Amino acid sequence: MPTASSSAPRIVVVGAGIVGACCAAYLRREGYPVTLLEAERPAAGASSGNAGALSPGSCIPLATPGMLRDVPKWLTDPDGPLVVRPSYALQALPWLARFVAAGRESRIAAIADALHALHSPVYDSYQPLLQASGAGNLVRQSGSLVVYRRRSGLDSSMRWWQMRRDRGNAFEILDQKALHDIAPALAPDFDCAVYQPQHGYVADPRSLVVKLVDHFQASGGTLVIGRAQRIEHDGEAIGVGLADGRMIEGDRIVVAAGALSKPLLSGLGLTVPLETQRGYHLHLPRPAIDLPLPVSFSDSKFYATPMTGGLRLAGTVEFARPSAPPDFARARRLGTIAAKWLPGLDLDGASEWMGRRPCLPDSLPMIGAVPGDPRVVLAFGHAHNGMTSGPTTGRLIADLIGGRKPFIDPAPYRPDRF
Ligand SMILES: Cc1cc2nc3c(=O)[nH]c(=O)nc-3n(C[C@H](O)[C@H](O)[C@H](O)COP(=O)(O)OP(=O)(O)OC[C@H]3O[C@@H](n4cnc5c(N)ncnc54)[C@H](O)[C@@H]3O)c2cc1C
Repeated sequence: MPTASSSAPRIVVVGAGIVGACCAAYLRREGYPVTLLEAERPAAGASSGNAGALSPGSCIPLATPGMLRDVPKWLTDPDGPLVVRPSYALQALPWLARFVAAGRESRIAAIADALHALHSPVYDSYQPLLQASGAGNLVRQSGSLVVYRRRSGLDSSMRWWQMRRDRGNAFEILDQKALHDIAPALAPDFDCAVYQPQHGYVADPRSLVVKLVDHFQASGGTLVIGRAQRIEHDGEAIGVGLADGRMIEGDRIVVAAGALSKPLLSGLGLTVPLETQRGYHLHLPRPAIDLPLPVSFSDSKFYATPMTGGLRLAGTVEFARPSAPPDFARARRLGTIAAKWLPGLDLDGASEWMGRRPCLPDSLPMIGAVPGDPRVVLAFGHAHNGMTSGPTTGRLIADLIGGRKPFIDPAPYRPDRF
């Protein structure tokens, strides 16, 4: 552990999800005095209940040309992957319009390059953190499957698979027999699958974050439980004001509060079109079937991931008012669908969860200093892939704060791009 000089800036990281934990860990490794500020407990947000998939080869933006064609089908299917609650539809409209605009043909390749840069180093970026925190057993490079009921489904998405391959992401197309050999628990309803050997999963996402934070504290970092309310400026001084009246002073503030980051940024002169895409999981403690790797069901767009505590079914997208109660029927529906495709699946004892994905219209996070006040550094908006992009974000933030040439080009994630 390098020792910071007495003039090293004091850093406050707001939010102990996977992104904040990785930022704090990377900064602490460089010897900075770091305070990690968390409203509830480490992994209180999206980073606990997600599907845990590690997808270095994932680089296709969420909005793509032609996606609008599929939206009516998704919205009208009760088992479909997308819901916009009617009471929120009007409010969501401006964001959805930006999202669709970001999916236009002229933008796709550049966004895919930026996603690839962030996702492909996932294992290298996790490695030093896992080694130091003793969490190596939680990250598994098992490969993953995307399964298709009809070959035509795969054929119609071939353009996107080619785009992944063009960026060096290997995959293999499996016929029904080869698929059965890898995942015999799947029903014979699937014509084919795509196997991505470099993919993997986190066997317990919550434990991973907790272990990273535990190690951060053991190495001299400070964890403070308290809800940040605003960033305070007082002449040269900067700090974070908490809801309970406390003030945490720092020289740099890293905002990594996931879907709840936006209210902290008022007064900084930034446009932050951060929207929440809710997702659900159903966690099965005794699934009675074995899956050796994460399986993504292409039609319903959810994952079944083997975890240390059972099998987790996770996915779906829901737009709803922030205060709206969760609709756990969506989580239970994942169980109904999965029971068809994984014969013998035991749903007994299942637990339900809802989490908020922090999403910007162009599928890219905001990573970097705020132009109006470079002491405030942003690290949020990791959407559907934060378990994959979190550690690389931590590395990038450490490069930016350290004033070094960043190991990847940070330009696509500029906070002032909207
Ligand atoms: C159903 C579902 C499935 C997913 N599957 C995958 C997957 O398979 N692979 C993948 O890579 N990603 C997946 N994701 C996405 C991933 O979970 C997120 O991108 C990631 O967790 C975001 O991490 P974060 O640290 O930015 O936010 P969070 O995990 O939400 O952490 C933010 C933290 O900040 C704290 N906080 C908020 N406001 C304040 C405040 N004012 N003061 C102090 N603290 C505050 C919160 O309590 C929380 O602990 C999935 C998400 C969902 C919902």
